[in-house]
Amino acid sequence: MSVVLPGATLGVVGGGQLGRMFVHAAQSMGYFTAVLDPDADSPAGRVSHHHIHTDYADVDGLARLAGLADAVTTEFENVPAPSLEHLAVARPVAPAAQAVAIAQDRIREKAHFVACGVECAPYAVIESEAQLAAVPADLLPGILKTARLGYDGKGQRRVSTRAELESAWADASGVPCVLEKLLGLDFECSVIVARGADGQMVNFPAQRNLHRDGILAVTEVHPRSMPEATARRAVSAARSVAEGLGYVGVLCVEFFVLGDGRLVVNEMAPRPHNSGHWTLDGSDVSQFELQVRTLAGLPLNPPRQHSVAIMLNLLGDLWFVDGDTPEPPRWADVLALPGTHLHLYGKTEARRGRKMGHLNITGEDIDAVRSTADFAAALLGLPIPLSE
Ligand code: ATP
Ligand code: MG
Repeated sequence: MSVVLPGATLGVVGGGQLGRMFVHAAQSMGYFTAVLDPDADSPAGRVSHHHIHTDYADVDGLARLAGLADAVTTEFENVPAPSLEHLAVARPVAPAAQAVAIAQDRIREKAHFVACGVECAPYAVIESEAQLAAVPADLLPGILKTARLGYDGKGQRRVSTRAELESAWADASGVPCVLEKLLGLDFECSVIVARGADGQMVNFPAQRNLHRDGILAVTEVHPRSMPEATARRAVSAARSVAEGLGYVGVLCVEFFVLGDGRLVVNEMAPRPHNSGHWTLDGSDVSQFELQVRTLAGLPLNPPRQHSVAIMLNLLGDLWFVDGDTPEPPRWADVLALPGTHLHLYGKTEARRGRKMGHLNITGEDIDAVRSTADFAAALLGLPIPLSE
């Protein structure tokens, strides 16, 4: 991939918050930006120099994007892989359609993990009645997950018995699924890597993640967040997964840590990730700047975490703490706390469960940062304590 220097235009397929933060990073380095998203009011489209309002698979929209942008990336995993292939005929595209296609399909994704020697939760592929009947009993209780188009816990059903499994698969209209054994999790973590077209790879430290109702709620990044050996294994597994794909771009790999200390991979996201939002304030380079650098073919330096960090996700629920009429949270009180950094995505309408923004809390000492985070959470109406 050739070097695309500042002054050129970088394109992104998808106009959500990840695209918005990519656009911010690109613009601060002197690039022009183009966003393709059908929503005229998309978070990224609102801050981009160019905004093409078409569907992600619209041939005309894609041609306009390729005409404007010198290189193109993507910000959400369900972008049609054929759209990326189509763009790649005209322009450098990272990540590649083939890597995105693998991440979009849990069956192919798990096969890739296995091929890289990275352990995943015991699972069975269910694409036919015969495979359904052959599911080994020791996978129950388990979680039935549709192979495609799941996010934030959508497209998933917990099942305890064979009868429940059968009816859950029928409810999913018999689309390809995987049944995963329900594991006893000690905690969850993720690792974000960035890999250039020349094979150079850098990573952020392993991040500890807390989910509520299937949605990421809190990320903590500091040396005491997990055993050093776990962090080391997670980093090494994430790097193997990226290497095995010949990946170019920013990749997040999510893990489960089991009660006995074992690390198993959950899934990967071929883009910056919610669990890496702390890098905007706690690291000398953010995941979005690394996305710009990998796309533009610029050199990568290993990120340096300069502050311990806690990230609180801000869902639309926080606007409804006092009733059914949305009220903005107490930003001024929260921002009076030391080391707080507010990021809102410019979404005009708050809805329950909708990702509206995040709050980063940074500092030198994790105990102080944690107590500030608890304060902020109390002001916002988030459950405390933050950790499990
Ligand atoms: P997202 O894309 O937002 O990360 P998703 O819809 O792809 O979510 P998963 O990551 O597969 O969903 O699962 C969501 C959460 O459900 C996990 O973070 C974990 O808390 C829980 N979970 C998923 N699979 C298992 C499992 N096999 N055993 C125990 N818990 C699980
Ligand atoms: Mg997940």
